[in-house]
Amino acid sequence: MSGTFVGMPAFPEAAREAVADRTLRGNLRHATHTIRAKREKAVAEVSDWAELREAGRRIKDHTLRHLDRYLVQLEESVTAAGGTVHWAADAAEANRIVARLVAETGESEVVKVKSMATQEIGLNEALEAEGVRAYETDLAELIVQLGKDRPSHILVPAIHRNRGEIRDVFRREMGAWGRPAPEGLTDTPAELAEAARLHLREKFLRARVGISGANFMIAETGTLVVVESEGNGRMCLTLPETLISVVGIEKILPTWRDLEVFLQTLPRSSTAERMNPYTSMWTGTTDEDGPRAFHLVLLDNGRTDTLADEVGRQALRCIRCSACLNVCPVYERAGGHAYGSVYPGPIGAILSPQLRGTASGIDASLPYASSLCGACYEVCPVAIDIPEVLVRLRERVVEGGPVVRDGNRVVLRPAKGHAAERAAMRAARWAFARPGALRAGQRLASRTRRLHPRTLPGPGRAWSATRDLPAVPAEPFRDWWRRTRGGEEAE
Ligand code: SF4
Repeated sequence: MSGTFVGMPAFPEAAREAVADRTLRGNLRHATHTIRAKREKAVAEVSDWAELREAGRRIKDHTLRHLDRYLVQLEESVTAAGGTVHWAADAAEANRIVARLVAETGESEVVKVKSMATQEIGLNEALEAEGVRAYETDLAELIVQLGKDRPSHILVPAIHRNRGEIRDVFRREMGAWGRPAPEGLTDTPAELAEAARLHLREKFLRARVGISGANFMIAETGTLVVVESEGNGRMCLTLPETLISVVGIEKILPTWRDLEVFLQTLPRSSTAERMNPYTSMWTGTTDEDGPRAFHLVLLDNGRTDTLADEVGRQALRCIRCSACLNVCPVYERAGGHAYGSVYPGPIGAILSPQLRGTASGIDASLPYASSLCGACYEVCPVAIDIPEVLVRLRERVVEGGPVVRDGNRVVLRPAKGHAAERAAMRAARWAFARPGALRAGQRLASRTRRLHPRTLPGPGRAWSATRDLPAVPAEPFRDWWRRTRGGEEAE
């Protein structure tokens, strides 16, 4: 399996294989149901959960509305604290910046703490092309990297693997990347964790460059925050001499006080913990401790385009807790790979088509990878109405492309796709504007109803293959009205 998502087929084809894989479905079902139940308990303990959720939504909305101001403030704060800020418009620019910064250190390997942003831009592959090896240090990311696999969950990237599979990957691959797996390694969690710990420890102690993302950035002080559960983040953030953090511009919070809300909602929503085991915060550099050089690469990569859509922009509130994945009936069956992005599940279905546009098969199909049941919205700690955005994106796909600007107004690009659907809508508009023609058509449909096909022809075939076509009544509604009520026709 390739390590990237480039050239993925559309969601239905990608999901077909996963749905047929019984082991994968079993792994996913077990994992998502376990996390889901724990989260429910952890959330129920908090009496003001609804208020916290609303506070999170408001803080994020306020920040996004004034993003320009807070980003400038953040840059000033980071610079004043001894850091250097770089601006990257897209993935290529971000990769170029990081590769240059690593080259300036003279190093050919880096340690990484789990970061969605660096996966989004394909940083590991870009560094490899420059002769730099990036070592993932989060346990699940290590499993994915050693297995030449792709992440399939935001929080638990190797959720699709069971313990036996992980043991086999460790035994087979660890030696090629550094310290090999211990002799006789079994699939018990303690032994697997110890094998990973020994393998990673030598990398932490050798590394001179660390690369991270961040969960939050505080504009008023220039502080970055990483929350994690294994302690590998703390190692990556403190041991190397140079630290490079690649962070999406939407991860900003105005003040320390705002952090209070998210440090309550994030752990409970993601790992079902009251507080997460490791919360690392750093502000620029100090002479006595930690990295001597700190670089912050602020990543746009489609975020300002997303911000321009008044419905779709709520996706930028996401704090990557993954609660929506764990309750999604589509994710549970299809798994994360089918979403063709580092952002799988419901949030991926609304984020990827906005960050990347809806031109490719996979991105145009993602807004349909949902039953619109709304479970994702119910659990989201920042109240992102994912079904609303999905419908908005379906509209965009049908209309034929990404949003475009008209002055300050955001409008849909002129229609060019889904010709059959548009032709049907035009025919309906014509008929509804002509009562006589509509009446004649309804009568004709009633009289010929025994001759109607059970499935639709042409482009409608896929729709009717899994649905019963509604039966046409023997008597049109207007005729029934006149017969039973007499006099005038119903209007
Ligand atoms: S959309 Fe909401 S529930 Fe899903 S990962 Fe983001 S914050 Fe969590």
